[in-house]
Amino acid sequence: MTDQVVDISAEQLYCIVRCPVCLVVPFGPIRTCQNGHGLCEECTSQINKKCPMCRCWFGGVARNVVQEQIIANAKFFCPLECGVKLSGREMPAHLKTCPSKEDK
Ligand SMILES: [Zn+2]
Ligand SMILES: [Zn+2]
Ligand SMILES: [Zn+2]
Repeated sequence: MTDQVVDISAEQLYCIVRCPVCLVVPFGPIRTCQNGHGLCEECTSQINKKCPMCRCWFGGVARNVVQEQIIANAKFFCPLECGVKLSGREMPAHLKTCPSKEDK
């Protein structure tokens, strides 16, 4: 199976894992609609239980575990632009203490 090499550009990855509503990579739990559209928790609480992509019922309970794992293992620059590069797994802890947070 290891010869099934995964080759994906950073740009492609970003387009796949970002939240389609706020266009930000979610570093927390990702909720998904019946058709698999993954949204960040914040957007999930604002869409009135209707998926903005396909208009289907969005209960906000099911999690998109695959998407969460891709983010957890990929590396991203800090969204607050402090220049630090971390995996999605480490990012939530960093965001609480990020030096750029104070400036905004
Ligand atoms: Zn969002
Ligand atoms: Zn959907
Ligand atoms: Zn930062």
